[in-house]
Amino acid sequence: MAELHPDIQEILLEEQDIKDIVKRVGAEITRDYADKNPLVIAVLRGAVVFMADIMRAIKCPLSIDFMAVSSYGDGVKSSGVVRIVKDLDTKIEGRHVIIVEDVLDSGLTLSYLVRMLKSRNPASIEIAAFLVKDIEGKRPAIDPCYVGTHVPDKFVVGYGLDYAERYRNLPFVGVLKPSVYE
Ligand code: 5GP
Ligand code: MG
Ligand code: MG
Repeated sequence: MAELHPDIQEILLEEQDIKDIVKRVGAEITRDYADKNPLVIAVLRGAVVFMADIMRAIKCPLSIDFMAVSSYGDGVKSSGVVRIVKDLDTKIEGRHVIIVEDVLDSGLTLSYLVRMLKSRNPASIEIAAFLVKDIEGKRPAIDPCYVGTHVPDKFVVGYGLDYAERYRNLPFVGVLKPSVYE
């Protein structure tokens, strides 16, 4: 058991849970992309930790690239506005693209991104989301092909996920105490 951080109310995923997720999702992608030389794209900054782990769990040739979009600023609620802060360095035409995301909440950020990238004519485009929020009565705007695990509709941090750029370095995923942001 990880020691509880003073700002964390509850740990949802321990380091070992995360390792198991990475191994499973890595095997799924390896199976599906064995001869496709996929381009794995991580959305900065939250997805970098999952990216670093998942790329090593994918046992077939691949390349990587990064994009930065901004939708949440420093807050905890979606602004509904997606801005491209850093575009890809790689041409994706004819490539099999996998977008690695930290957490799919409303899915608005990713559905915007997928639409934008589809206009560049990749051979295929799929999503690998480390976390998917379970929001009652609501389906995300986009369906990820690969899902690490589902989490309740609470604001989570750690393993790359931040609140106001903090907590990304926590090795576990936990629920932030509302008193931190209220
Ligand atoms: P969406 O567009 O799917 O609603 O939100 C996507 C982005 O919002 C995520 O990539 C992430 O940056 C941020 N986000 C959504 N939910 C959470 C959360 O519980 N914790 C953190 N740290 N970020 C979140
Ligand atoms: Mg993200
Ligand atoms: Mg953030």
